[in-house]
Amino acid sequence: MTEERMAFKAEVSRLLDIVVHSLYSEKEIFLRELISNASDACDKLRYEALTVPELTGEDTDFKIKISSDPKARTITVEDNGIGMTRDELIENLGTIAQSGTASFIKSMEAAQKGDITQIGQFGVGFYAAFMIAQEVEVLSRKAGTEEAWCWRSDGRGEFAVEADTKATRGTTITLYLKQGEDEFISPERLRGIIKLYSDHIALPILLNEEEAPVNHASALWLRPKSEITADQYKEFYHHVGHAFEEPALTMHWKAEGKIEYTGLLYVPGMKPYDLFDPKRRHGVKLYVKRVFITDEAEGLVPPYLRFLRGVIDSEDLPLNVSREMLQNNPMLTKIRQGVTRHVLADLVKESEKDKEAYAKIWDNFGAVLKEGVYEDTEHRETLLKLMRCRTTHESGLTSLADYVSRMKEGQTAIYYMNGDTLESLARSPHLEGFKARGIEVLLLTETVDDFWPTAVGTFAEKPFKSATRAGQDLDKIAKTDKTDEAKKEEAPADSVSSLITAMKMAYGEAVKDVRVSDRLTDSPVCLAADEGDVDIHLERFLKQHNQIRTASARILEINASHPLIKKLADKAAGLLAGTTEMKASGASLNDMAWLLLDQARLMDGEPLADPAAFARRMAEMLGRAV
Ligand code: ADP
Ligand code: MG
Repeated sequence: MTEERMAFKAEVSRLLDIVVHSLYSEKEIFLRELISNASDACDKLRYEALTVPELTGEDTDFKIKISSDPKARTITVEDNGIGMTRDELIENLGTIAQSGTASFIKSMEAAQKGDITQIGQFGVGFYAAFMIAQEVEVLSRKAGTEEAWCWRSDGRGEFAVEADTKATRGTTITLYLKQGEDEFISPERLRGIIKLYSDHIALPILLNEEEAPVNHASALWLRPKSEITADQYKEFYHHVGHAFEEPALTMHWKAEGKIEYTGLLYVPGMKPYDLFDPKRRHGVKLYVKRVFITDEAEGLVPPYLRFLRGVIDSEDLPLNVSREMLQNNPMLTKIRQGVTRHVLADLVKESEKDKEAYAKIWDNFGAVLKEGVYEDTEHRETLLKLMRCRTTHESGLTSLADYVSRMKEGQTAIYYMNGDTLESLARSPHLEGFKARGIEVLLLTETVDDFWPTAVGTFAEKPFKSATRAGQDLDKIAKTDKTDEAKKEEAPADSVSSLITAMKMAYGEAVKDVRVSDRLTDSPVCLAADEGDVDIHLERFLKQHNQIRTASARILEINASHPLIKKLADKAAGLLAGTTEMKASGASLNDMAWLLLDQARLMDGEPLADPAAFARRMAEMLGRAV
């Protein structure tokens, strides 16, 4: 059969360009990537051979061979792993498998720059070879088949595939070096690179026919902690997490007793782009007695720890456990419970030890951990310890314990407010009364924030209360800024009640109630949810997701010391007493009441129920004022 030429998918071409020209500062990591792939390929075959031993036959000694040829100016990386069929060569090396990559590259191009290291998470490892090679040849024979295929490319838009022959299974990758890259032919240079980046690889890596492996050749996670350097931990993270950055936290422990396993888990240093994609690959690999089983074990870690990367190696699960058997396996459940406890405890330790480092972890993964606060009642207490929130008190993150320690005298609840952004929350009239009393309010802007406070109920015996709810009893807490107390005199009670009567008549069913507010200081009005009703922000979310159709009627709170409200109260009192001329005045009071309601809606980010009526009333008022 003759050679078949194919074009890379557009995004691959672009990616190759980025990788070759700007992704890595160190060209030498090409070798790390190829060794990492060879090791994965051996892991995969070892697993397949558990059920189909013929796949490996006699050849069960997995290894990776590296050699260089000064005459041909080539470097070769060879493994006896699972190999690739023709289709797999095309699929794995000619496209980017992970969804979202193309759009990510486009958005990065649109932004003209963007964080280039972000690209690492898309599995671009293989393409690193083109940093030093003008041509790359991948000869592969899939375990259990006779035929071999050769994939070849100069990394510039096209690749070719043709039938070939290969005596043994696995993959041999040959790099034809670019001009000026001859340093990589030197065996000593190669040895140094392998030691530096690939020492943790559990298979022997052999250099140029030597008998002794260059690397340690044992599973890193089973070595004593004292013998593992920080660099080795980091390089193992790069391999196991297919990542390129420094991990934010490394956790390595051995569980002994009823269940035995070793965990080497990492909190990534970067937020993956697909953290909220339900189809995203699982990050923790399951091994049984050093044999890789799967990186798709559902239930190995709870969903809210899905950002973790690393390895769990079990001593108890049977070696012949199939991926299907893992579902609802009681042993796996036990492991998950142990892992969850350990990871959460380590996170708590980190949060106490290094506040800043922990704040970064929270910024990246807090939204996911909050899902745990909502879902996992068993670990809720620990998760609440880990919780960090923005608040009205300071610009940084605050723990709930710190919030409680700052609660004002007479304050009985933990106040929070949901909104779309910190800016919109900061502007919200609901917070005025809290500010005036120096009461801190948690500012919550993530989707999950609409759910956890009500699910949790209390922290340190203090109930969570939304600041947008009516009946806060703020009056019981003294105001701290008394400076302008004098001029904030309220309108007389009977005129206020006249105004309330008039407003209620104007609104009819549109609002549930009109009340005097104790939370407003600067704004004339605001909307509040009644005690038993759905929170305003949550209701909008539910409506957007078609969970509910009709909005509940709200309570309109009025600020009795606001000049406008005072004047309106005066007017309403006059109207009721019959001292003001009824017709025109009544109509204008009606219009003003509606304008105030619409204003309150706008401040809450709600759409106007009737923009045309709003515009008409507004024009009318302006006309009168001109
Ligand atoms: P990643 O390793 O993150 O998946 P790479 O670009 O390094 O991304 O590799 C792409 C894919 O090519 C791998 O997922 C694997 O399916 C395949 N592959 C690469 N090298 C080998 C190899 N030596 N043996 C078998 N498959 C390989
Ligand atoms: Mg790889």
